[in-house]
Amino acid sequence: MKTLIEKINKLKKEKNAIILAHCYQKPEIDFVADFVGDSLKLSQEAAKTNADIIVFAGVYFMAQTAKTLSPEKKVLLPNVHSGCLMADMVNKEQIIEFKKQHPGVTTVCYINTTAEVKAECDICVTSSNAIRVVRALNKDKILFLPDANLGRWIEKNCKGTEVIKYAGCCPTHMDITVSELEKIKKEYPNGVILMHPECSEESLEAADFIGSTTEIMDYVKNSKEKEFIIATELGVMQRLVRDYPDKNFYLATPKAVCPNMKKNNLEDILHVLETEENEIIVEDTLIEKSLLPIRRMLEIK
Ligand code: SF4
Repeated sequence: MKTLIEKINKLKKEKNAIILAHCYQKPEIDFVADFVGDSLKLSQEAAKTNADIIVFAGVYFMAQTAKTLSPEKKVLLPNVHSGCLMADMVNKEQIIEFKKQHPGVTTVCYINTTAEVKAECDICVTSSNAIRVVRALNKDKILFLPDANLGRWIEKNCKGTEVIKYAGCCPTHMDITVSELEKIKKEYPNGVILMHPECSEESLEAADFIGSTTEIMDYVKNSKEKEFIIATELGVMQRLVRDYPDKNFYLATPKAVCPNMKKNNLEDILHVLETEENEIIVEDTLIEKSLLPIRRMLEIK
């Protein structure tokens, strides 16, 4: 592994490249990463740099977002097969049909959507800012896609706004079931349950705290508690275990592993750096259109 890391770091320098690693990636990717974090933040950090190449160790829509925010840079995805199962549940035709069924209603999309879908939406949200953005919109009704669970959580926290939800979900977070949570809570009764809002409504009833990846990590950082049950993807727990050796973490279920996020590895990163294969191409007009909902979101303070 050491030689692989050395080779990647050497090529990074030679090609003026940076590597972004989403928190759900395999932990060894952090050894070569310039930035580790949530998807939008990573793309924003990359846009601030003068790198010529961005290697995005994440899933397809994330690399597309990075390209949208840095159109002048070459963006490479280590493994072409790493798509987000949730983002793939809605395509351009489906969003157009969804809007047709509810004419005139503001369309809010989760960041976990392709550029083609974002281009059809009014405004974008992340799991960190969704409640704040929807409250600021102050609408009686919105359309939300693709994650129905996140949509329900937004509706619960934005009184006065009806959320018409698209029927998408994250299969990985759906695997964190009520019975799995009951089982682990019995084993670790002092464990504070930290959950991602992509989990089902029934499961979220068990949560002590609900938040995005960043918010979950911040919760642990600021908490005096010592034991935590992590009800989100394995990668988050692995980073918490590394960063807080004096605290104990238990994964809500061994099934909380996103198979597509784990497709990228160090060999793939070296390969795309060498060959510059798997480049993400987004047409200029699509960049412009898909950037609009992101810009509108960022304007809401
Ligand atoms: S964990 Fe779910 S939402 Fe995240 S990349 Fe995997 S399938 Fe998509």
